[in-house]
Amino acid sequence: MRAFCIAVLFALFAASAGAQQPFAVGPVSAAPGTTASGTIEIPARAGDEGTTLPVSVIHGAKPGPVLALVAGVHGQEYTPILALQNLLRSIDPKTLTGTVIMVHVANMPSYLKRTIYYSPVDGKNLNRVFPGKVDGTLSERIAEAITREVIERATHVIDIHCGDGNESLRPYLYWITTGPPQVAEAGRQMALAFGMDHIVVDRGRPTDPAGSIYLSNTAITRGKPALTIESGGMGEIDTDDVLRIERGVAGLLKHLKMRADGPDPIAAPVLLERSEVLLAGFTGIFHASVQKAQTVAEGAVIGRITDFHGKVLEEIKAPFAGEILYVVGTPAINKGEPVGFIGATGG
Ligand SMILES: [Zn+2]
Repeated sequence: MRAFCIAVLFALFAASAGAQQPFAVGPVSAAPGTTASGTIEIPARAGDEGTTLPVSVIHGAKPGPVLALVAGVHGQEYTPILALQNLLRSIDPKTLTGTVIMVHVANMPSYLKRTIYYSPVDGKNLNRVFPGKVDGTLSERIAEAITREVIERATHVIDIHCGDGNESLRPYLYWITTGPPQVAEAGRQMALAFGMDHIVVDRGRPTDPAGSIYLSNTAITRGKPALTIESGGMGEIDTDDVLRIERGVAGLLKHLKMRADGPDPIAAPVLLERSEVLLAGFTGIFHASVQKAQTVAEGAVIGRITDFHGKVLEEIKAPFAGEILYVVGTPAINKGEPVGFIGATGG
């Protein structure tokens, strides 16, 4: 019994005194105080050729939180992918406490074929098939690998997006409140630490871990605080949009005590308690009447959908007074797809 206690005490001491073990994500293993990069293979199955997940592990010399940063869930969302390229070089594993996992391009088929929303292989939206299926379509297998190798290994998860290649978007992040209260509160503090001035309060996500649908919600339904970030859009490479993501991660590293220095949390962000995605009722040509970040009155026309001969099929109107968080900025529109997203501070 005594020997057992000493063994347990020794193990606890070793874990807390910085006797860090290597940290592996799939085949990519980093020794303490080092960064390692490599690839998780998603093997081929009948109907597709499989794909790859490029990942990095920045493993601090001292133990601490495991922060997962995921970019490229939608392959034409470039600002998060570029921000992670910069962060990979700027986060020093020798001074880091804990571990950062990066997924540089989560949806490689969509990235390489430059598709919005949907995988060119199976037609599915990767951010609607979590937690994924080991024997599913390619998007479902990518989701399963991210769930198993990244989300299950992390303590905190950030899914970084921007407006897709057709979405003109003002920056904001989603604070998801549907998890257990302590997870929601940890998420609120992370949202403030990320420093963005518009926060969408998202109360409607599923609570079933087996049907979590979204990447960040897959973490939350497993008891891990998570955020979804939006900064950039329209397939553009705007330096401010990239820097905003880098600054947000720096704020998180400080908040999680993974690094001593970093920006302070935002004190008084705009909390958007009410928000609504506006959907197209028709397929055709979308003509936007508003711009991102524009304030609109209830009933204001957001845009019109015409048929291919110019006849107006639908006028989409603001359901309440608020701010345009994103609006579709290119003509192509399919029935049931978003044309815009509006938020307001009132509950
Ligand atoms: Zn996205």
